[in-house]
Amino acid sequence: MRVLVVDDDPLTLHMVVYRLRQWGHDVISANDGTAAWEFIEASPTPNVAIMDWMMPGISGLELCQRIRARAGVPYLYIILLTGRNHPEDLIAGLDAGADDYLTKPFHLGELDARLRAGKRIVDLQNELISTRETLRIQAMQDPLTQILNHGAILDALLREVDRAHRQRQPVSVILGDLDAFKAVNDTYGHIVGDQILIEVAERMRSCLRSYDSIGRYGGEEFLMVLPNSDAEQALSLAERIRLAVCNMPFHYKNIELSVTLSQGVTTWTEPYPFPLERLIQTADGALYLVKNAGRNGVEYAHFDVGEDEAVVPIGRPNPLLRMP
Ligand code: GH3
Ligand code: MG
Ligand code: MG
Repeated sequence: MRVLVVDDDPLTLHMVVYRLRQWGHDVISANDGTAAWEFIEASPTPNVAIMDWMMPGISGLELCQRIRARAGVPYLYIILLTGRNHPEDLIAGLDAGADDYLTKPFHLGELDARLRAGKRIVDLQNELISTRETLRIQAMQDPLTQILNHGAILDALLREVDRAHRQRQPVSVILGDLDAFKAVNDTYGHIVGDQILIEVAERMRSCLRSYDSIGRYGGEEFLMVLPNSDAEQALSLAERIRLAVCNMPFHYKNIELSVTLSQGVTTWTEPYPFPLERLIQTADGALYLVKNAGRNGVEYAHFDVGEDEAVVPIGRPNPLLRMP
């Protein structure tokens, strides 16, 4: 474990650091609160801090408060060292965010035992953080293709329209739908169909820039959100995507097959706020034109909202946009 020891008393500091190193910890030390804070903010961050209560400058108590005020950082387990033994002081220390305390002079065996208890908490916290991160990703990801799911791509669209509005930039969307995909399933089976969907998503993603988003809008439908892209750029990207999907056959075991893709494109520029679903409807309208004209192509539709619609606030993610 990486342990930070903070004490303005050089003797205590030296003794504790010496022991901790003997016990195999990676130890950093500071003799005042200001130096300690720099270690806490630097990388790699300590897992445990053993801190004196009374110090010139930033006190142990204040350090506790500062540490707990930070958000989105790994948990730092805090043991306060105190010469005091009034219950009110201990209550103040624990209230400020300390996890445990030791009263000076303390027994080294007790320090070791309390560090082991701290390690259990630190390990649990880290496990919790990584589980939460996994769940967060899972909640946004389509399990088959690993791209964003329906809800997450709409969140991305809302975020990008918001940002584009602030920065006075366009946002384009592409709605893609695989052609005659039912026939692929009927001919080769659902498992092959699934493999095609995975590879189509991968081919589409490889055409995008790092700040574009792609999600699975429905079964064989994909929605792409392209910040800072005007109509012309979006159209040429859609054409590249179409070629990436259609020009190279897919292979699965000994099967070789080709699929084609129809895409509708539109670009948002001005009116705001507006109902977000109108943007997707517009792209869907363009997609419909491609399907009607024989599929395997790209169409653009101009996005326009009527005056009465342009004043409807879109609010936060619209539940109407989510699939049941
Ligand atoms: P069109 O060119 O008009 O889009 O024809 P289509 O057959 O692609 O359209 P339709 O909407 O009739 O059928 C969509 C097909 O996509 C039917 C469904 O079985 C298939 N599909 C949807 N989701 C999945 C999936 O997760 N896996 C597989 N293998 N197929 C899927
Ligand atoms: Mg479809
Ligand atoms: Mg289709």
